Amino acid sequence: MDQTVILKNVRPWGESATDVLIREGRIAAVGPAAATMEAQSVDGRGAILLPGLVEAHTHLDKTLYGMPWNRNSVPSNLVAKITNERNSKKRIGLDPARQSARQVALSVGHGTTHIRSHVDVDTEHGLAGVHGVMATREKYADVVDIEIVAFPQSGMLIREGTKELMDEALSLGADVVGGLDPSSMDLDPKGHLDVVFALAEKHGKPIDIHLHEPGELGIFTTRLIIERTRAHAMGGKVTISHAFCLGHNDYLAIGRLLEQLAETGIAIMTTGPADYACPPLIRTLDAGVRVCSGSDGIRDCWGPYGNADMLERAVFLGMRNDLDRDDDILRAVEVVTTGGATVLGLEGYGVKVGDVADLVLIDGETLTEAVVSRRPRPLVMKRGRVVARDGAPLFTTE
Ligand SMILES: [Zn+2]
Repeated sequence: MDQTVILKNVRPWGESATDVLIREGRIAAVGPAAATMEAQSVDGRGAILLPGLVEAHTHLDKTLYGMPWNRNSVPSNLVAKITNERNSKKRIGLDPARQSARQVALSVGHGTTHIRSHVDVDTEHGLAGVHGVMATREKYADVVDIEIVAFPQSGMLIREGTKELMDEALSLGADVVGGLDPSSMDLDPKGHLDVVFALAEKHGKPIDIHLHEPGELGIFTTRLIIERTRAHAMGGKVTISHAFCLGHNDYLAIGRLLEQLAETGIAIMTTGPADYACPPLIRTLDAGVRVCSGSDGIRDCWGPYGNADMLERAVFLGMRNDLDRDDDILRAVEVVTTGGATVLGLEGYGVKVGDVADLVLIDGETLTEAVVSRRPRPLVMKRGRVVARDGAPLFTTE
């Protein structure tokens, strides 16, 4: 961390080539730099330099990555998937510490330097997931920053004892209060949001609510979340993940909702799913709403997809939202970089002098070309230290 590094011949955000001097984990200068005895010189070979990618929504505690292939035969509905997962974890020997570390390695190899992970809290497994991901967060603190969302995956009110476990998770060190489909899961949106906002107030933590509820129901719940956020003066500290309801076809109603989300300072996380109506990316950004993205579950009991590559996620956002123009595709890149950083409230995020040297190099003619080609990342740095090369992490996991 105290080492001085000169990153030679790199192109910040795909602009002209320059050198970047890194000292004590931060960018000390940008511009032609002469080699010195004290500085280690790294040849960037004209690669594009971006700040580290931000994985703003995943589930580190339950990936099956690296485990024997899980043959999936679960019916395609939310409650069936939740129940199957809760019942499968022990049988298949899912160890949250081991599995979260494996996903961290995958993410860092692709250039991710910050992760927000929802972690299951339920009465069947208690805080096993939170303990596991906290162990990984500590063990790999030098290679990635992990934010933990205490997440009531099996419902908050319908399983007695869950809110007490949520409280305990937040006391232990979870960073964010999670929630899940207040209307359709608990059938009690008021009760659910009472608990979520009370926990946020008690622990002084932000909120990130999974909202899969579609159409009118989702719009109703979103309005309740907006109302609560205003009443608790929590603008800037609330995220709605998925918000599929913003993909509803009532153009005027969605316009009004987007205006209110922007006014209230509520952020939206969208994965750009292929299979659901979802927030229209450009319209949401143009309304002034902060937007971040994430892989969601990677190779878990829910489904077999995902590889933790946030540049691939930018491509999915582009394909879902019909983004073909270069400037539009770059807005998807912003979502997986600065968008995520603003939602997570990261200090010193960027490639300017003074910013934290959390960086990724990407090969490509232009940034758009680099994104659509998404070649292995030549170099990833965390606080000025090289943590991955040529797409592979420089550390091992179990
Ligand atoms: Zn999720």
